[in-house]
Amino acid sequence: MDVRTEVAVVGGGSTGSSIIYHIAKVGVSDCTLLDKESQIAAGQTSLSTALVRTHYSVEIVARMALRCYNYFENFEANLAGRTAGFVKTGLIIGAGADAKSALDDNMKMLRRLGITTNLVDRDEAVRIEPQLGASGFADIVFEPEAGYAEPSTTATSFASAGRELGAKFMMERRVTKIERSGGGYRLETPAGSLWAKKVVLATGPWSKPIFASLGIDLPVRAVRHPVAIYHRPAEYEGKRPFILDLLRSAYYKPEGRYLLIAGSLELELDTSGAEVDPDRYDRGVTSEEVTKMTGKVMDAIPLMASKGEYERGFGGVYDVTPDQQPIIDELSDYGYENLFCLVGLSGHGFKLCPEYGRIMAAMVTEGKFRDYDTSVFRLSRFKEGKLLRSSYQVGTVG
Ligand SMILES: Cc1cc2nc3c(=O)[nH]c(=O)nc-3n(C[C@H](O)[C@H](O)[C@H](O)COP(=O)(O)OP(=O)(O)OC[C@H]3O[C@@H](n4cnc5c(N)ncnc54)[C@H](O)[C@@H]3O)c2cc1C
Repeated sequence: MDVRTEVAVVGGGSTGSSIIYHIAKVGVSDCTLLDKESQIAAGQTSLSTALVRTHYSVEIVARMALRCYNYFENFEANLAGRTAGFVKTGLIIGAGADAKSALDDNMKMLRRLGITTNLVDRDEAVRIEPQLGASGFADIVFEPEAGYAEPSTTATSFASAGRELGAKFMMERRVTKIERSGGGYRLETPAGSLWAKKVVLATGPWSKPIFASLGIDLPVRAVRHPVAIYHRPAEYEGKRPFILDLLRSAYYKPEGRYLLIAGSLELELDTSGAEVDPDRYDRGVTSEEVTKMTGKVMDAIPLMASKGEYERGFGGVYDVTPDQQPIIDELSDYGYENLFCLVGLSGHGFKLCPEYGRIMAAMVTEGKFRDYDTSVFRLSRFKEGKLLRSSYQVGTVG
């Protein structure tokens, strides 16, 4: 006989862990998280740069990011002493002439939402970060409150808080098939099946085959995201603002005392990069990728040219939708009532995980999230041509 549960959440990354916690928190203790791996956050969450910022040009996403920022800042109080390892560093956004007007318009919208964001001139930017090569930027914005968290710790904190509220965890359970059964769903795994009245899919880059088995062609592409890690010299050590370099399409995150994590924001990576199998892709970085990234790092932070050292790199995977915003939906239009999904996070889903959990818990338990209209994230928007529009070239930026 199948194990039975009221709500099953498939996927234990930052998304699924936050969802299971929030579901348990609203009083559904008969909920179960399944993951194919042996531990929480073994998917893309563990590789995340985990930058937490509020700068977005899509207003609803900026609102969500602000709520999440406040959540991260007060994480210990929100989650009974558990930590997300949040470190406030500040964020410098440098734009070339092409992004200047988008950045200016955005600032007005962000200020209206109550987000602290300041336009600074080059001298001020260099006072904030003396190693910044500011000369190429037409516009520079400083977001003093931004920072980064520890992604695996965050997910584990949500999971353990959920466990304390009664949530159960079934690890090493790859869900291979979902079928309707007895007014709910039967989830098949190689280690046995589970019946759930309601199911949430938070399966990250592995989502497509599950949706295909439900007869849904999910418009999400798994795209490799290479990251290069450098050693910073003494003059550039310690806690420093991270930099979104819209001019060179890259981000640079000083981490801990000595590391600098650099990743690409290139357009082709988000929209047309080759699709990969998230179980079998190149987890390293090529010398070409390192050379290209090192050039950007040296231009943006000139001291790194003489005193920085490349240490290592790795490849992660983004689950990218056509507008680089998530899909948050109940699949009832496709004939699957009480089957929900939160997938296609497009390389910026970590910072939003507290709000993803809150939204999905309301959808699952009350049938609707009422605080604001999340229907803009519905799956059918792609067929309807109602994509969310970022004012930046790369939607991952926001
Ligand atoms: C290199 C890199 C840098 C990033 N930087 C940032 C950043 O700075 N800021 C930011 O906000 N976001 C960032 N992101 C994106 C962010 O990390 C992700 O959007 C977020 O962590 C996704 O979490 P998830 O839970 O949806 O997916 P995942 O963490 O991939 O979790 C999915 C889980 O589902 C499980 N699963 C999948 N299929 C099945 C199945 N059939 N049965 C059972 N279990 C299954 C997997 O094992 C996995 O644990 C970055 C991502 C990468 C790769």
